[in-house]
Amino acid sequence: MIDFSKLKGKIYFNEKFIDNSKAKIHALNHSLHFSASVFEGIAIYDKKPLFEFDHFKRLQNSAKILKLDFKLSAKQFSKINAKLVKHNIKSNGYIRPIIFRSSHSMSPDTTHCKSSIAIACWSWGTLFNKKSITLGISKWPKLNRKIFPIEAKSSGSYQSSVISRIEAKQQGFDDCIMLDNEKYISETTACNIFWIKNNIVYTPSTDSALNGITRQAVIRILKKAKVSCKIGKFRMKDILEADTVFLTGTAAEVQLVGRINKTKYNIDNYIFDMIKKNYDVVKTKSLKKLSSI
Ligand code: PMP
Repeated sequence: MIDFSKLKGKIYFNEKFIDNSKAKIHALNHSLHFSASVFEGIAIYDKKPLFEFDHFKRLQNSAKILKLDFKLSAKQFSKINAKLVKHNIKSNGYIRPIIFRSSHSMSPDTTHCKSSIAIACWSWGTLFNKKSITLGISKWPKLNRKIFPIEAKSSGSYQSSVISRIEAKQQGFDDCIMLDNEKYISETTACNIFWIKNNIVYTPSTDSALNGITRQAVIRILKKAKVSCKIGKFRMKDILEADTVFLTGTAAEVQLVGRINKTKYNIDNYIFDMIKKNYDVVKTKSLKKLSSI
């Protein structure tokens, strides 16, 4: 288990590259108390950040929504990442930029707060590291676009996910499905969800789910392969009747689900195998170079 506060190597912090061990934030930090930071997770394969520009755009949009200042251009962001990768990564890893407020307020009033950015980078593998995982179903509703800006990847939108993941683990599951407040399927605590039934792929719309960059890549892979992909509002009964279920996310990549509660799924599915094979191509080359489609 990694203690991230003990990471070696360099971090970009207060506009400088410093040792990770020196990147400290005060206990009276506004974002810590009011859960209003925005962040990204970018995978690095063979020392190259994947979908770096898409992550930059989402970070920029998240900051705008949460009214945080983010002044780096895409070029500056990329230059910083390249330097961090050079310092910290031998092959594969992860970049975590986070924008947060200073300690100039201990109330929701942010008039005197300044925004800061930190960008960390470390060697990392995939999230679950097993062929298939198990999911429970959370009792906590996922917020939707009407009541919370869930299109921003902000710390605030993870509150129900964090308690849901604790409870899922206590119940013996790896993770859980989150439903929105009208009981439509949303996503899991940190991944988008897809399922396959009679050779058609389904995934929830982004009314209450983050529009994952891996999700978008998988949708493009399906389109190129001319596999039908239906995006919409779905109930638990839809997924419980599926043949195969899988998750997508930067850290999870494409991850099979073997069981939801007591319902078991087929983990041998040629459409899933095609997606995985092509995602492996995308990881090191680009979406334009999908070999087998
Ligand atoms: N949903 C949530 C809640 C997440 O935290 C993530 C991980 N960023 C995803 C979906 C997947 O998004 P992406 O493919 O951009 O990593």
